[in-house]
Amino acid sequence: MMNRILTINAGSSSLKYSLFDVENDKVIAEGRVEHIGGGDAHVASHASAMRDVLNGLINNSLLNQRELMAIGHRVVHGGEIYSRPVVIDAEVVEAIQRLIPLAPLHNTINLACIEVTRELFPQVPQVAVFDTAFHQTMPEHAYRYALPENCYRDHQVRRYGFHGTSHQYVVKQAALHLDQPPEQLNLITLHLGNGASMAAIKNGVCVDTSMGMTPLEGLMMGSRCGDLDPAVPFYLAQAMNKSNQEINELLNEKSGFMGVCGVYDMREVHRRVEFGDEKAKLALEMFCYRIRKYIGAYCAVLGRVDALIFTAGIGENDVVVRRRCCEGLDAFGIKIDSQLNEDSAVAIQQDNANVKVLVIPTDEAREIFEQTLVCLTPNKQ
Ligand code: ADP
Repeated sequence: MMNRILTINAGSSSLKYSLFDVENDKVIAEGRVEHIGGGDAHVASHASAMRDVLNGLINNSLLNQRELMAIGHRVVHGGEIYSRPVVIDAEVVEAIQRLIPLAPLHNTINLACIEVTRELFPQVPQVAVFDTAFHQTMPEHAYRYALPENCYRDHQVRRYGFHGTSHQYVVKQAALHLDQPPEQLNLITLHLGNGASMAAIKNGVCVDTSMGMTPLEGLMMGSRCGDLDPAVPFYLAQAMNKSNQEINELLNEKSGFMGVCGVYDMREVHRRVEFGDEKAKLALEMFCYRIRKYIGAYCAVLGRVDALIFTAGIGENDVVVRRRCCEGLDAFGIKIDSQLNEDSAVAIQQDNANVKVLVIPTDEAREIFEQTLVCLTPNKQ
């Protein structure tokens, strides 16, 4: 019986997979391959990691053609073409290929995984769930950059936004928690992991987000700089005599926490703060300050805010970051209760606060699974 769905979430150097049993709505196998490609690689490429994962599942009798209903792939860039998941056919593959210039590393990796899964399971439907899709509801005044029009018309330069599956998942969960339909909710979602982004959600749909044409814009991140005066890269290229490629690496891989205090992992940042490391203290304050600025901006965008939602590695676990991101925001109705925050309760606002503050663990695999299922059974939509 066809009752299994495999989800694939491939990042720049990792590949996560989850195998769901549709009948019982349960994960029956999951795992993660790390250190793919690059200098310290354990696995040469995403294609070989994908093959290893599939063969491992087949050899353990968890996966076979008869039971596998579909494979859902997270695909990073769907451009303006996709605002919902699609069954992958030749035309979709071609579109993902065409979008490679907008996400050179990620879309190439996603295509490599799709190729391997199609090769091993040619009869099984494959679904693409785009990271950008959830943000396609943004109005033009929010997604356009103030550049000459042909940059947008001819070169697709605009804000797309990322982490869409995560923002979408926590919106659905918040609606369940608040016992209100998403269409009645105005929310600010904070996905704070190694990569970090925020979104303003009005009546259940995204109206603005902090990441831009690429995931580099917006918040300060593990190794990405986030918002920056656009003149800085040109200045640095000249001052440091660096190539475009080197500047790109500097902004994406050597900046953020890594650039300011020498480590990218938030737990390590806290360890250093405890030892009195001034650079780590500065990095932490820069991170929280920028988040507070975005919260203020999104309060203005939304007018009324029902809830703020913290998610991902830092958002779900970091008591200090949550406290500092909400500090001084009483005027906006945002007041968190220190004990509830310490306990990482689901709702951590004070009783008399106008805005709920929720801590909701993200689950991108489940969101990919649910979207894949809906895509295959359209009458469920
Ligand atoms: P990604 O999926 O983007 O790699 P995650 O959502 O797993 O990222 O988040 C990773 C970040 O979460 C790291 O900076 C890590 O230090 C941080 N993190 C994880 N657990 C904790 C914790 N208990 N306290 C503070 N930060 C944490």
